[in-house]
Amino acid sequence: MTASTTPSRQHPVIAIDGPAGAGKSTLAAHLARRFGFLNLETGAMYRALALKAIDNDLGFDEESVLVELASNTRISLEPQREGNRVLLDGVDVSRRVREPDVTAAASKVSIHPKLREWMVAQQRLLGAAGGVVMEGRDIGTVVFPDAEVKIFLDADPEVRGNRRYRQITPNQPADSKVTEQGLIEELKERDARDRNRAESPLRPAEDAVILDSTSMTLDQVLQAAESIVREHVSDAQLH
Ligand code: C5P
Repeated sequence: MTASTTPSRQHPVIAIDGPAGAGKSTLAAHLARRFGFLNLETGAMYRALALKAIDNDLGFDEESVLVELASNTRISLEPQREGNRVLLDGVDVSRRVREPDVTAAASKVSIHPKLREWMVAQQRLLGAAGGVVMEGRDIGTVVFPDAEVKIFLDADPEVRGNRRYRQITPNQPADSKVTEQGLIEELKERDARDRNRAESPLRPAEDAVILDSTSMTLDQVLQAAESIVREHVSDAQLH
C-alpha cells in the first residue's frame, strides 16, 4: 500500500474485502460517511445478476449464457446512508437481492471468469475518480490493486454467524426456520466457494491490513479502520 497519489485521481480508493458476514457493509458505510466518499457494494452487482438469472429460469453453470445475460443488463448502485439501493434494469431490487435464494445464487454465478471480467470493468469505471469505499472479495487484489487503502476484514465463522443471527432475529416471524447453526453453515459454504474458486479467489492482497474483528466490538473495528485510512492517506487526499 502506498500513500502516494495516483495521478488520475485526487481522492483515494478504499478497498474493503473479506468473507461473508464479517461486517464489511457496516464498515464501508461508516467510512464513506466519515470521509464523504461514495460507498459501493460490489456484491450487490453479483446478486442482481443472479436474480435476473433466477427470474429468467436460467441455471448458474453456463458461463456463456450468463455473460450474454449480463451484456443485456443494466445494474446501478445508488449509495445511500446505510448501504446501496440496487437497480436492475431500472427496477429497485434492493430487498429482493438480500433473500437467501439470491444470496446462494450470487456465490454460484460469481465463479465464472468472463462474468467477473464484465463486473470488474464496470466496478473500475465506478471507482475511477476515487473518493470511494468499495467493498467485495477481490477489490484489493483485482479491481483496484493500486487502491490507496486495503483492509481485509475477517472474523471466525461462528462469530459472523452469531452476529448475523442476532441482527435478523427481531425481524423474523415466530415460525421462522432460521437457526444460528444454519446461518453458520451457510456462511461456511459461501466462504468455501469464494476461497476455492480458480478465478479471483477470496484472499487478502499482499499489502492489505488484516483486521480480525472476532474479539472486537463494532466501535473498535470502526476506530481501527479509521486509523488505518489516516495512516495511508494524506489529509489533502481526504478533503
Ligand atoms: O458481499 P455479498 O455477500 O453481497 O456478495 C454476494 C456474493 O457475490 C458473494 O458470496 C461472492 O460470491 C460474490 N462476490 C464476489 N466478488 C465481489 C463481491 C461479491 O465474488 N467483489
